[in-house]
Amino acid sequence: MELSSEFNPISKKWKRGFKRVALIYPNRYIGGISNIGLQYIYYKINSMDGYVCERFYTDVFDGLRSVESGTPLRDFDFAFFSIQYEEDIFNAHEIIKRSDFSGLKVAGGPCIMENPLPYEKFFDVLFIGEIEGSYFIESLLTGSLSDDLSGVYIPSRESDARIIAGKRIKRVRSKLEEHLETQIIGNGAYGRSLLLEIGRGCCRNCRFCVVRQIYFPCRWRDKEIILNVAESLKGVTDRVAIISPSPSDHPQFKEIVFELTDMGYTISPSSLRADKINQELLDVLVASGLRSLTLAPEAGSEKLRETINKGISYDDIINAADIAKESGISKIKLYFMIGLPGEDENDLRSIVELSSEVKKKIKRVEISINPLVPKPHTPFQWLSFGGKVDEFDFVRDIKELKEKVKFLRRHLKGFDVKIDKTEDFAVQTVISRGGREVSKLIEGGKRRAFRNISELNLEKYLMPFEDDDLPWDFIDHGYKKERLRREFEKSVRS
Ligand code: SF4
Repeated sequence: MELSSEFNPISKKWKRGFKRVALIYPNRYIGGISNIGLQYIYYKINSMDGYVCERFYTDVFDGLRSVESGTPLRDFDFAFFSIQYEEDIFNAHEIIKRSDFSGLKVAGGPCIMENPLPYEKFFDVLFIGEIEGSYFIESLLTGSLSDDLSGVYIPSRESDARIIAGKRIKRVRSKLEEHLETQIIGNGAYGRSLLLEIGRGCCRNCRFCVVRQIYFPCRWRDKEIILNVAESLKGVTDRVAIISPSPSDHPQFKEIVFELTDMGYTISPSSLRADKINQELLDVLVASGLRSLTLAPEAGSEKLRETINKGISYDDIINAADIAKESGISKIKLYFMIGLPGEDENDLRSIVELSSEVKKKIKRVEISINPLVPKPHTPFQWLSFGGKVDEFDFVRDIKELKEKVKFLRRHLKGFDVKIDKTEDFAVQTVISRGGREVSKLIEGGKRRAFRNISELNLEKYLMPFEDDDLPWDFIDHGYKKERLRREFEKSVRS
C-alpha cells in the first residue's frame, strides 16, 4: 500500500472546538479506497464546518490510528463503520475493543441493510440505506437525530415488542443524480483508478442476489454526468473503474466506454454479462488496455442457471469466449457457486466442461468457486446452507460441500482455481441470517467462529427456514414477500 501516491486526500487541520469523525473500513486499504460510498461520506463530512473526518483501515496502524494524521481512534468523537462483508465485523469488534474508543459508534453498509440484528450490540446507531438520500449524517453529528428519520435504527430503543407491533424500518434510497465530483485516487482493487459509479441496483432477477434486492430499483446515471466527472479528472490517472452491479446493462454503456476511451482512459468494468458482449465493444476495451475478462456464469449447467434465474446460456458464454479470443484478451475469470438447490454430480461436471470449453479459446482461465450463502431478502432466503429445501444436517451437509470442492479441485487440474474455506461461508451465513444472539459468535472472534456455531447452538441459522417469519422481516426494502415466495417455489420446482 502506497499512501504517498494518493491523489487528493483531504488534510483538514483539527482546531479546538472541532469534532473528529473516524471513517472506518474494517478491512484492507485496497478495498476501502475502492468504495465510492465511503468516499462520499469522507467528502461530505470534511465539507462541514467544525468537523474533521479521517480514515482508518486494518492494514494502516492496525486500524487504531488515522491515515491522515496518525491520531488514535480514542481521540475521535464519532466512529462510522462500514460493514461491507459479514466477516468484517470481527475486525470492527477488535478495533472497538483495542482502541478504548468511547464516542458514538455508527454502522452502515450492505450487511447492516440486510439484517442489523447480529451487529446491533456493537453500535449505538445503525443506518439502513444509501447515505446520499438522507440527512442522516447532518442530523447525527449535530445531535438532532431522531428515529423518525427514515433508515435510522437505534438498538437501545428497538425492543422486540416494537418490532412485533409492526414497526418496519424503511431503507433509504438515493435518487442517484449527481456524481461525487472529486475523490481520492489510490492503489485500490482496480489499480490506481478513478471510480465512476454508472448505476445502482440491477434490472435482472437472479434469485440468489441480495444486491438487486437491497439496492432496488435499478437506477442509471446519465452519461453526461459520468463523462463530465471523467473529463474534470483527466490527467490525474489514466484508469477508470466502472462501478455498477451489472454495468453492461446501462442503456448507454457502449457510448460511455467509447467516449472514455477517446479521453485516453483504460477501462476496467467490474464484470460484463456474457450476453452483452460483442466484438466492437470488446475490441475497444482491449484497445484501451483491458487484458482480462470476468464472466459470472454462476452455475455450470443450463438446469441450475435456470434454477437461479441467471438468464445466460451456454452459447452466450462460449460466444463471449470466442469474441474475447478474437479481441486478444489473454485471461478469463469465471465465477461459479456450489450448494445450489437440486445440485448433483452432473452439475459439478458441467462446471468442469464449461471451463474446459472456455480454456480451448483462452489459455489462462481463473476459476473462483464459492458455496452459496442463502441471503436475506432474496428468494433463496428459505434455503439451507448447502441448498436444501427442507432438511439440514450440520455434519453431513458441511461434509457434502467439502466433497464437492474436492471433486472440483480434482477435475480442474490445469486451471487456476480459487476456492475459499467452506467453514468461512457457513460463518457468513450465520451472521447474515442470524438473530441478536449471533453477537456472541462475533465476540468469540473469527478464529473460533466456525466451532462456535455448534457451541452456541446457532446451527438453526444454517437450516432451511420453514417459518414464514424471518429475523430480518422488519427491514423494509420495498418488495412483496409473496413475490419472493413465488420465485422460491418456482426455483425449487424447476
Ligand atoms: S447477480 Fe448480477 S446480474 Fe444477477 S441480479 Fe445480481 S447484480 Fe444483477
